[in-house]
Amino acid sequence: MKEALLYKKLDRKRVRCNLCAHRCVIHPGKAGICLVRKNIDGILYTEVYGRTIARHIDPVEKKPLYHFYPGSKAFSIATPGCNFRCHFCQNWDISQLTDKDMLETGQKATPEQIVSNAEQTRCKSIAYTYTEPTIFFEYSYDTARLAHEAGLKNIYVSNGYMTYEMLDMFSPYLDALNIDLKAFRESTYRKIIGARLQPVLDTLKKIKQMGIWLEVTSLIIPGINDDPVEIKDIVNFIATELGLDVPWHISRFFPAYKMSEVPATSLRTLQLAKDIGIEAGLKYIYIGNVISEKDMDTKCPQCGHILIRRRGFSVIENNINDGHCPNCGTKIAGVGL
Ligand code: SF4
Repeated sequence: MKEALLYKKLDRKRVRCNLCAHRCVIHPGKAGICLVRKNIDGILYTEVYGRTIARHIDPVEKKPLYHFYPGSKAFSIATPGCNFRCHFCQNWDISQLTDKDMLETGQKATPEQIVSNAEQTRCKSIAYTYTEPTIFFEYSYDTARLAHEAGLKNIYVSNGYMTYEMLDMFSPYLDALNIDLKAFRESTYRKIIGARLQPVLDTLKKIKQMGIWLEVTSLIIPGINDDPVEIKDIVNFIATELGLDVPWHISRFFPAYKMSEVPATSLRTLQLAKDIGIEAGLKYIYIGNVISEKDMDTKCPQCGHILIRRRGFSVIENNINDGHCPNCGTKIAGVGL
């Protein structure tokens, strides 16, 4: 076990973890809400440092990031655990600690080994993903610093619940994030997700202010966040607070975990969400988890020319010319285009 970063010692050997917005006060012998940070005799430890429960080479499009080195590969890692309790989690088998033994599962790997694996497999970046990477911050931080020394990029795929302190510390090494904006109702965040909405909104604004490349994903779930009024609220927040250039990924829900009885999102609802985004002026909108080629392509927001053609997670054609539309010359938002 490794001593945690970003915590404060309190009286009676209690500690306050300042890594995510839960800011857990943890008594000796106890763990925080994420269950992977434990107070042992007044010292906070991370229990997941150096152990990956998932490790894959993915197209960066799978994160999803569509405007960040399109067509490149991301060496993707996760440890067990999460600070959210989403009833609809699609990765619940590795994110929700149903058993203490889960902390012992997975493969051991030092940050040096992760970076070396990423280089050997010709990945452009390392993605901290699948579960919530904030809860393995120390591991990702050490890996990210080495990755930058090796010329690799770092990607966080996150629920956006990290604190400003964490972002300030990590930002020199973070190159891109995809943040889930899972709903726009405080009640949904509290009842179905086990968190609060406002810290996520604050994080999104902070990332944008920091100038780190940002894309946003919203999983649209029937009966939970598919009301057009709520979708408009999500879209208006992106448009006014983050900017029209921020790509928005609308993701299709499939029955999972505690919501196995809820039907998959209808294609009509996904199209409605897209239309609402277009009406608000968002320039780059994608629909994920469906087999629809036209909804995955990147088009020039000015002239409609197809810039990147995708099939599944593969880029089959990239016509962007040094960051610009080859047809009308419009600058296309993104990094490594
Ligand atoms: S990371 Fe968040 S959930 Fe985990 S102990 Fe720290 S404040 Fe609590």
